[in-house]
Amino acid sequence: MSALGSLTVVGLGPGPDRWLTPEVADVLAGATDLVGYGPYLDRIPQSFHRRHGSDNRVELSRARLALDLAVSGRKVALVSGGDPGVFAMASALFEALESGDDPAWAEVPVRVCPGVSAMLAAAARVGAPLGHDFCVLSLSDNLKPWEVVLKRLRLAAEADFVIALYNPISKARPWQLGAALDTLRSMKDPATPVVLARAVGRHDEDITIATLADCDPATADMRTLVLIGSSQTRLLPRKGTDGLGDVWVYTPRSYTAEVP
Ligand code: SAH
Repeated sequence: MSALGSLTVVGLGPGPDRWLTPEVADVLAGATDLVGYGPYLDRIPQSFHRRHGSDNRVELSRARLALDLAVSGRKVALVSGGDPGVFAMASALFEALESGDDPAWAEVPVRVCPGVSAMLAAAARVGAPLGHDFCVLSLSDNLKPWEVVLKRLRLAAEADFVIALYNPISKARPWQLGAALDTLRSMKDPATPVVLARAVGRHDEDITIATLADCDPATADMRTLVLIGSSQTRLLPRKGTDGLGDVWVYTPRSYTAEVP
């Protein structure tokens, strides 16, 4: 039997290489095998490793493959975009481990390395919208019932959190973002700032700052992160030549509204 390998779960950050941590760069450089969704693996320069690309919908089988490779002695990097613990591969890996389908998996040394999540990059682009309490939801109802999404949205709005929405829309889920915005419109000030941050850090980045009243869900696609302000989130004039617009969006450190 060959010596046991290892399995490291990493996130590449949301876009450019400079948002990939030095720790993750070291793991990728030392890996014999990369396992992940094809387009993420395409972002990693060719090196002396083997690549095991796959479709986006097969997270659990990807995690099993990564474990099998580690059992056979390979040094495996299991790759996500952003942070690997935010709607990504780290949980899929632990689900596979918990299933215990192969007892040898329990012996594999596992490590999870953090990455820059899309909401952090999107927030930094527009200022500091996440500066006070916020909550994060995936709008995808592939892995949970839509009623749960709506209930969580309503309660988040009631508690006056800033809300970050991952997976807002896709070809298979065209109406969910519109429905979510309608729910929020029924509960929040129509002037609440909304940020639609598409492909942050990529060559086709596009950031729209709107209000809840005029925000158009058609502006979003599956590479968009949506931020919805709390009652305290506000706009400030922005000077600069960086081409990133003429307003900042930020949420102050202190909460001065009445208790919601
Ligand atoms: N683990 C990832 C999230 C995976 S879920 C992370 O921590 O960022 C996929 C969702 O992430 C997309 O639907 C989109 O909402 C968001 N996302 C990923 N990369 C993005 C980017 N460069 N710009 C904006 N949103 C992004």
